[in-house]
Amino acid sequence: MLIFTEYNVTYTRHPRPIQQQIRVLPDRRQQGIFAEDYYKITLIGIGRKIYSNRGDHMKYIIITGGVMSGLGKGITAASVGRILKNRGYRVTAVKIDPYLNIDAGTMNPAQHGEVFVLKDGSEVDLDLGNYERFLDIELTASHNITTGKVYRTVIEKERRGDFLGETVQIIPHITDQIKKCIQQAAEEEFADGTTADICLVEVGGTVGDIESMPFLEAIRQMRGDLPPQDYILIHVTLIPEDTMGDFKTKPTQHSVKALRELGLHADIIVGRSEDPIGANTKRKISAFCDLPQSAVISAATVPDTYEVPMEMEKEGIADVLSAHLGLDKREADTSWYRLVTKEYTSRVTVAIVSKYGIEDVYISIKESLKHAGRALSTEVKIAWLDAERYEREQLKDYDGILIPGGFGKRGIEGKIEAIRFARENNIPFLGLCLGFQLATIEYARNKAGIPDATSEEFGEGTHVIAILPEQAGLNELGGTMRLGNYFADIRTGTLTENLYGTSQITERHRHRYEVNPAFISRLEKAGLVFSATNKNRMECLELPGHPFFFATQFHPEFKSRPTRPSPPYLVFVEACRANQRTKQA
Ligand code: GLN
Repeated sequence: MLIFTEYNVTYTRHPRPIQQQIRVLPDRRQQGIFAEDYYKITLIGIGRKIYSNRGDHMKYIIITGGVMSGLGKGITAASVGRILKNRGYRVTAVKIDPYLNIDAGTMNPAQHGEVFVLKDGSEVDLDLGNYERFLDIELTASHNITTGKVYRTVIEKERRGDFLGETVQIIPHITDQIKKCIQQAAEEEFADGTTADICLVEVGGTVGDIESMPFLEAIRQMRGDLPPQDYILIHVTLIPEDTMGDFKTKPTQHSVKALRELGLHADIIVGRSEDPIGANTKRKISAFCDLPQSAVISAATVPDTYEVPMEMEKEGIADVLSAHLGLDKREADTSWYRLVTKEYTSRVTVAIVSKYGIEDVYISIKESLKHAGRALSTEVKIAWLDAERYEREQLKDYDGILIPGGFGKRGIEGKIEAIRFARENNIPFLGLCLGFQLATIEYARNKAGIPDATSEEFGEGTHVIAILPEQAGLNELGGTMRLGNYFADIRTGTLTENLYGTSQITERHRHRYEVNPAFISRLEKAGLVFSATNKNRMECLELPGHPFFFATQFHPEFKSRPTRPSPPYLVFVEACRANQRTKQA
């Protein structure tokens, strides 16, 4: 519990004096962060003490990366979070992406990996997906800080006249804004009204990148702003092996040197390597990088990322964190570890037909299949089929077919063919977003007598899939799709109702097109069932009589967790298993 003092204040240096209420903590850290507000206010009236549990000694765990990107910094951060969550701490996370884009929405997933969608509709870096899955929380736009967002806010303030008379500079204006963003995200309430005890802050990119400099400077300042037990820095680096199998610590030494030049000190070093590093290597790193040997944590590659918390736990990271952050020693709940080491008793193979050959584009789908598989003790193998190249005959070898989301015309005919094959051959089918739209098109062409059925997105033809009316005429493409949480009412007596076990659901969306209302009754007369709707918008479809033919306009994969698999994925994997058994019988 914290005591704030609430003041009514006037911003006297503003051309139009604005009155506002602000809350001030009798704490150096808060004063530091609110310094910008401080010298601009005149107190009017007497401060009123109020009580709140917000920001009660928020502890920050900063995660930086060295040597190269793609080391699994996000998984390391999420795993540290899980280790603390297993001890009953409430953990939240912030991802800093030093690029100039406002968000990840307009970025090519083939280059940057999946665009993850949050409940509030923000399109963010895939690491936020890892946080949501590992920590079982729901984040918002404020948890993904980009250079674009920070500069936009500061420039808007400058235009408003908030800095009248001042030269607006990276230090202090940009760095103050970064600190403010981090603090706001850290203190944002969870759905249950509580706030976090600990906030992970992952700085994207590698130390030394020009783009990350202002963020690293802000993080350097935070160490001074906060009591020592509220701040710890974990540096994730690569420890390669040479041809003789010796671990090389030089890259780590160099990246720690780069950190030092920026005034940052690594309290923990997580060394990523193929095989576990031993005491010798740890001793060397400890000597060169100024930290105890116990704070050098080996993170060798493991087959499943969900095992990383367990491996880091074995390395003793919890003790190092607890000692540094002044956390009381608590027994860890081990149910996560039991879950991720459960033995599989069967195995199915699912074909994913897509135009990208890169698995990172569909990370949430991959994880959702894994979550469902774990719950059913079934290992789910994925066969990635190129929509433009696969052999039709190949399809019968798989236990299920999945068509993921996507944009643009390339590869759609191959996907439509695969859907037809699944429908005609009773193979379990799961369609997601674009997959839902293509299932509608396939049915229109081959069962509802509309041979030139297509989507407005792809060009000429009969548009059974049409642009959302509110989307037509939009000029800006960033953040303008139908995004994030929308509810859907489920029709009674359907597979959809059975699978969700409820009559209304909320799932996350990301699309610009929908089933054209003008064709709904014709499609339904031909046998297609639209089993869930948001007002007059079609959200799910299914085919009675088929073992499992189900598609969603939304992306259920964004809400799937290892501990709570998404129902469509769960029932799909179950259907794949049943299909395999019938084939074998
Ligand atoms: N391209 C389709 C649309 O915009 C589907 C989008 C998706 O699969 N996420 O509606």
